Amino acid sequence: MNFALTVNSLSVYYLSHFGTVKAVDDVSFSLEKNQSIGIVGESGCGKSTLGAALLRSVPYPGKIVDGQIILDGQDITKISDDEFDKKIRWKEISMIFQGALNSLDPVFTVGSQMKEILHQHGYSTDDLEVIADSLKSVLLEPSITKKYPHELSGGMKQRTSIAMALLLNPKILVADEPTTSLDVMVQSQIINLLKKLKRDRNMSIVFISHDLGVISEVSETIAIMYRGQIVELGKSYEIYKNPKHPYTEKLVTSIPNIKHKENRPQDLSEKSQGPIRKETGCKFYDGCPYAKEKCRNDPPVINHKNGYIRCWLYE
Ligand code: SF4
Repeated sequence: MNFALTVNSLSVYYLSHFGTVKAVDDVSFSLEKNQSIGIVGESGCGKSTLGAALLRSVPYPGKIVDGQIILDGQDITKISDDEFDKKIRWKEISMIFQGALNSLDPVFTVGSQMKEILHQHGYSTDDLEVIADSLKSVLLEPSITKKYPHELSGGMKQRTSIAMALLLNPKILVADEPTTSLDVMVQSQIINLLKKLKRDRNMSIVFISHDLGVISEVSETIAIMYRGQIVELGKSYEIYKNPKHPYTEKLVTSIPNIKHKENRPQDLSEKSQGPIRKETGCKFYDGCPYAKEKCRNDPPVINHKNGYIRCWLYE
């Protein structure tokens, strides 16, 4: 199989005087070329830390403590910061960060912010065609380069952030909550745009979102995260139509559905927040209707054709 990205047993911890937070705990998945994977979970489940780890941008005191991130046959956890910045960031893998609407620098025009990216990577800042092409690919006029972020609408700011992430033509884009804080119409435009970019550029995308409905629309594969671990990985249609892990089941039935009014949103916040609550055993033990005595031990990872489930039920 031709993979754009493979993550093997990745663990990212936040180490502090108050204890260790296992934000990402033994996570594994592969992403095929020109495909997308959706990482879904509630706030605090570790999905944004996972996204940041793929860009080696985990904020202090976070640290990749174990595992591999293989990109083009190379484990990027093992190379120096300098080499990563020069050869990989923006060129091979790039990211739209959560809160991208506010991530543009308010005191510089769009054009000067894009030129700065070119400058940092040794490209000529006189080559305005590269900037214009990137803006056109997200359906923005090149004249926008003269504008300051406050002169743009929410949708235009998000498109600008995407254009910046695509400036050096990366093979993989990590999009962390790309539609959060946009109104519904603009959300759907951005989703359609990302789908088109993936197609046109033969790109692979890692979508990170709390919204399983949105993710299942744009990703061939879905990974459900709970307290730092992927509890279920599989094809999008399988997860959506036939969820197997009890937590995935809860997530799917919590999506409001006008046709099936019996689908009442469930309270997923119960006992579910915070990645360090339990040290051993299944992390969903307190919220699981099928919990049994053996679930006090770490659940096995059961592989199937298209992914895996981390649960004693499928032993
Ligand atoms: Fe529920 Fe046990 Fe499976 Fe955890 S391992 S999800 S507690 S059945």
